[in-house]
Amino acid sequence: MKVLYIAGWGRSGTTIVDNILGSYDSVFTCGELFYLWRRGLTEGRRCGCGEQLNRCGTWRDILHTAYAGEKLKPKHTAALQRRVARVRDTRRLTRAELTGEAARYRDEMRRIYTAIHTVTGAEVIVDSSKTPAGAAVLAQMPEIESYLVHMVRDPRAVAYSWKRPKEHLDAHAGRTMQPHGAAESTVHWLAWNLLIEGLARGPFAGRSRRLRYEDFVAAPRRAVESLLGVSLGGCPFQDETTVQLRANHTVSGNPSRFRTGTVELRADDAWRSDQPWRPRVVSTAISLPLLHRYGYASAA
Ligand SMILES: [Zn+2]
Repeated sequence: MKVLYIAGWGRSGTTIVDNILGSYDSVFTCGELFYLWRRGLTEGRRCGCGEQLNRCGTWRDILHTAYAGEKLKPKHTAALQRRVARVRDTRRLTRAELTGEAARYRDEMRRIYTAIHTVTGAEVIVDSSKTPAGAAVLAQMPEIESYLVHMVRDPRAVAYSWKRPKEHLDAHAGRTMQPHGAAESTVHWLAWNLLIEGLARGPFAGRSRRLRYEDFVAAPRRAVESLLGVSLGGCPFQDETTVQLRANHTVSGNPSRFRTGTVELRADDAWRSDQPWRPRVVSTAISLPLLHRYGYASAA
């Protein structure tokens, strides 16, 4: 079983890359699987197919396979996750062997990955949970062939994107994704990228790829095919930048995950002309330790 884990700070393009990968015949994407317990099963949010997650037939089959005859305790697992798999737990989760609650949490996730594979028969499973903690837990399952995709986007573009509220299409009306200020977004950007780099050097050494959002939108087909490494059937691309998105069964993610049909991929660079100078300077200053490393100029 192969699992491709997409990690990166929010608004870096993880959802669209996930949805494109999920449109190949032999790929199943579960979206941000990390949120299965809380958002999906406890809060009753919607699956990518439009049904409430606990009414979606695909997830019903997966959960039945994972927990046949046992009582599902999503609140219990969500609480366990909050105790052991926070972002700040990432380094601890990569150390040697897991014990106690961390090992129990890993076993719960392993059940789900295994059941997804059994039910869907997919050659590749995509998990775009983003959080480095989820990748660290996946790396603790040696029986799963796991790969890490590290997505990075210019931190000024990311900060600009977080300023714009996005409505949650999977929850109750009027709820929006919490915006972050430029400083807060960029502090997270820096911390998450450092942690993900640690994973790429550590447990995912030789099994990780970095993908810049800017390179992805410049040549989406080439970028996606290079992630898969092998040519898979049912390629969703109509040409280099046009893709046919299929309905999916993603647990959570950016509201764009509900989009299906023909999508023309274009760079979203409104921030270059519209972002005020103050947040841009703040974001540049905070991100400096990694900015040039990823090929972004200080004077954007
Ligand atoms: Zn579904």
